[in-house]
Amino acid sequence: MDGIAKALVFDGLVKVVAFKTTDLVNEAIGLHGLSPLAAEALGKVLSVAAYMSNELKGDKEKLSVQVTNKGSLGSIIVAADAGAKVRGYVEHKDATLPPLGNGKQDLFKGIGSEGFITVIKDLGLKDPYVGRTELVRGNLEEDFAWYFTRSEGAPTALALEVMIGEDGKCASAGGVLVQPMPGCPEHVLVIVEDIVSQFAHIGEVYKEKSPSDVLQDYFGHFKIEYFPVVTPVYRCKCSREQMSNAVISLGRADSVNLLMERGEIEVLCHFCGRKYVFTKQDVIDIWRKYDHKV
Ligand SMILES: [Zn+2]
Repeated sequence: MDGIAKALVFDGLVKVVAFKTTDLVNEAIGLHGLSPLAAEALGKVLSVAAYMSNELKGDKEKLSVQVTNKGSLGSIIVAADAGAKVRGYVEHKDATLPPLGNGKQDLFKGIGSEGFITVIKDLGLKDPYVGRTELVRGNLEEDFAWYFTRSEGAPTALALEVMIGEDGKCASAGGVLVQPMPGCPEHVLVIVEDIVSQFAHIGEVYKEKSPSDVLQDYFGHFKIEYFPVVTPVYRCKCSREQMSNAVISLGRADSVNLLMERGEIEVLCHFCGRKYVFTKQDVIDIWRKYDHKV
């Protein structure tokens, strides 16, 4: 079962978060029909966004993560609401490259190291927080570690793995994030670095263990304070109302032309694949409502 388990170790000097996201990645594969390459890439971004949204304080807070790049996958877009509720899509969900073996895909080519991670957080303030760093490796774990270190000022070690089986399904997914707090002494950092080096195959670990097991096994013998485990979920908030804005954004002339051509307007939600059909009467009503508002 998926989960995000968090703890403070060494008297609060180090934050450790273990997250297992196998079910979440399989839900995305099922909704979008992702190629293994797209599944690994989107799966990794969904997993990190689930962690990030679980760190949001207020119920209404939300964030989005964009990975723009020059690889064959195209942009990866994920949106998340507080409490590890995520949704996302990848521009070229059918993109394929020869796999690297052992359930690993060639993200170096699928994403590449030319591009950016952009995070926008809506914390209910007047302006959103916007953080942006360049990609450094294109494997996503090092790129996000750099993002947290550089943009959020929190030096971070991040292990992240999404393993796709021969059947195209996710066999195991998840990660471990470790952040020493400011002022963490050198001898603690040395211990932490040694533990983090053992997470190179975190996907294999999650085939057998829960995130709580991981915290217990690797950090349980130090002074540790556990937080409640949260289950990440795939949740799209799209609605007919919201999708009717897509009709408006077509413009009056184009929406009428499309109606004449096809008899109805179909709008697809990129995040969950749900289709919304607007008939001629619907479109008339949408424009009438729009005129009434303006
Ligand atoms: Zn949707």
